[in-house]
Order: sequence, then C-alpha cells, then structure tokens
Amino acid sequence: MSQALKTITPISQSREINWITVIFLAIFHAGAAAAPFYFEWKSVAVMALLYWITIGWGIGMGYHRLHTHRSYVVPKWIEYLFAICGTMTLEGGPIFWVATHRIHHQNSDLEGDPHSPRDGKWWSHIGWIIFGESKHNKTELLARYTPDLAKDPFYRWLNTWHFLPVAVSSILIWYFGGFSMFLWAVCMRIVLGLHSTWFVNSASHIWGKRRFDIRDDSTNSWWVAIVTFGEGWHNNHHAHPNSARHGLAWYEFDLTWLQIRFLQLMGLASKVKVATVDMESSLARKVA
Ligand SMILES: [Zn+2]
Ligand SMILES: [Zn+2]
Repeated sequence: MSQALKTITPISQSREINWITVIFLAIFHAGAAAAPFYFEWKSVAVMALLYWITIGWGIGMGYHRLHTHRSYVVPKWIEYLFAICGTMTLEGGPIFWVATHRIHHQNSDLEGDPHSPRDGKWWSHIGWIIFGESKHNKTELLARYTPDLAKDPFYRWLNTWHFLPVAVSSILIWYFGGFSMFLWAVCMRIVLGLHSTWFVNSASHIWGKRRFDIRDDSTNSWWVAIVTFGEGWHNNHHAHPNSARHGLAWYEFDLTWLQIRFLQLMGLASKVKVATVDMESSLARKVA
C-alpha cells in the first residue's frame, strides 16, 4: 500500500508549470489587488459570509474533518452541501483534495508528502500547486486513495466538474452584486481562502508550538487557527487525526469544532470522535 502511494502521489514534484492553474491564480490575485480601489462595505460583508461558508464549512467541516478523516457522520445531503462549499474555494474537487490530504498524513514530512516544508517553505505553500503535476481530473487514479468517495457517483461528478459552482456563483455575484462585489466576494475571498489553507501546510509545519512529540514537524499555530476557523491546531491534529476537535485546550479556539458540536446537539451529526488534551496516541507522545 505505502509503496503504491509513493509511486502515484497526486502531486509529484515534477517542475513543470501548471499553466492553467497559474493563469487562474494570476487572474484572482489581480482581482484581489484591485478590490481596495472598489471598496464597498456591502461587498466586504458578502465576502466575509462566503469566506465562512466556503472555508469554514467547505474545507474545515467538510473536506478535512468529514470527507478526509471521517471524524463524524452526517446525513448525505449535508455531506454533499459541504463538498459543494469546498469546491467554491478553488482548492479542487473532493476526491483530489481528500486523496492529497490522506497522502499528506501517511507520509507527513517524509518522502511522498505532497507539500512538506522540508522541500522548501515556498514549495509547501504554493510551489506544489504551481509546479506539481496536476491530476485534478484523474478521478480514476485518485480513487485508489478515496474508495469511500469514489463509489459515489455524485462525488465523481463533482470532482470532474469542481469549477462549476465557482463559475456559476461568480457570474451570479457579478450580475446581481456588481463589479465591486465580484472583486471582493469572489477574487479577494478566494485568494484569502487559498493562502489561509496553504498556511496550514506551510506555517503549521514550520512555526508554532508542539504539544505532541510526533515524527512530523506539525505545530499548533494560533494565527493560522484564526484565519482557518481552527485548522491551525495542526500538531494536535496530526497526533489525533480522527478527532473532530482540533483545539484541545480551552484556550485553543476552534470554531469548526463548535459548529460540529452544534450539529451534534441538533441531532444532525453522530459518531463524533473527540480527543482530549491529555490523550496520547500511537502516533504521538504528549510533551507540553
Ligand atoms: Zn499537516
Ligand atoms: Zn488532516
């Protein structure tokens, strides 16, 4: 299994530039740079709302803690809703995202990790996106790492057409909200979301505190936790990857966990796995 994973990682370190990715990144970054010149409070408010829904629900509650780690169970319609929110971040389809992240946990900071800072700080942040071999549409290949998602026709479809929700919503936002809202709620929102998520891969494997002694370089970073709604408690997460709660101490604010807890209290989430601050695991020993 691990041998197979090493030979077919979704992002190999080839140095070929993914031009389509680069062009879209450039367009959205240019839009974000122009946004302050078209400032409107209404646009900023819609941006904040969409940031919460796409990064908070789509990535934190969805792609990461639900689809990748299965740290809790929800009805299918909520799973699908979170997956659609996940595609809105422009971080790729669910099968691509989950396969990449499962390989990250399997080989974290070792050979085969798609985005380890040991291969360079910039590589772990954005280089692996720009230079890595893109396999966004290789659903069959990525399905090997995501059999749970790959057997579901909706996820297969969404993985291939992951850019559709962004495309459709962008047109609607421009049409109904105007150019300012397009720059803020689409361009700025996507750019901030991408870098925040990438900081989990870069900053949270470089700077911060380590509660658990674990073979990788993962850290707990309070500022990454703020911009990602709790994903920055990354050393806790690598020690207890199946826990729906990442901020384990009372002072480690983890909005994503509170929202999962809310779903549980509403009777919508079940089988919620929760680690505690003193819990050790087969992966890690508590040191702080
Ligand atoms: Zn990590
Ligand atoms: Zn994870």
